Amino acid sequence: MFLSLRELELRKIPFELQIPPGKLEFADELKQVTPIVVKGEAELVSDVLGEIRVSGKLRVTMEAPCDRCVEPATLPIESDFDLTYRPDESGAPAGEVHVSEGESEIGFYSGDGLQLDDILLEQIVLALPMRKVCSPGCKGICPSCGQNRNLTPCACDNKPPLESQWTAALHSLKK
Ligand SMILES: [Zn+2]
Ligand SMILES: [Zn+2]
Repeated sequence: MFLSLRELELRKIPFELQIPPGKLEFADELKQVTPIVVKGEAELVSDVLGEIRVSGKLRVTMEAPCDRCVEPATLPIESDFDLTYRPDESGAPAGEVHVSEGESEIGFYSGDGLQLDDILLEQIVLALPMRKVCSPGCKGICPSCGQNRNLTPCACDNKPPLESQWTAALHSLKK
């Protein structure tokens, strides 16, 4: 969906969309599992500056290889966004949206508006968890024999991963 500056000069543009998997292009290791459900609105905050504010809420389930065992990890995402875009006078190609360093909440657009798809793509990638695991208790791949220890327990004598030592420590603290 294109958020046209000309239209924004006349009115706010509310949007409520469902974007099926396959429409947006994510990086190879990321897979969109459910439609992106998004609701929000775009408005021209300042006529003079051409500042566009895009806010809303999105929901989607993504899939990425688990950091520990490389099997697909399901990543449900829910994100509120409230972003401001200013016209980019540097002459970047039309449609390109980038966020400048130090001004994380401000993006730029060039030409006569903004592509909502680009905004959503960026927001979803930002909302991904740092640690992508198939389940909190994933045992990962054995560093000695290379087996997926969720599927086949192996007889190697490995210390549990640091994180589960941590969770164990936390659990004993809670008690
Ligand atoms: Zn895993
Ligand atoms: Zn092993």
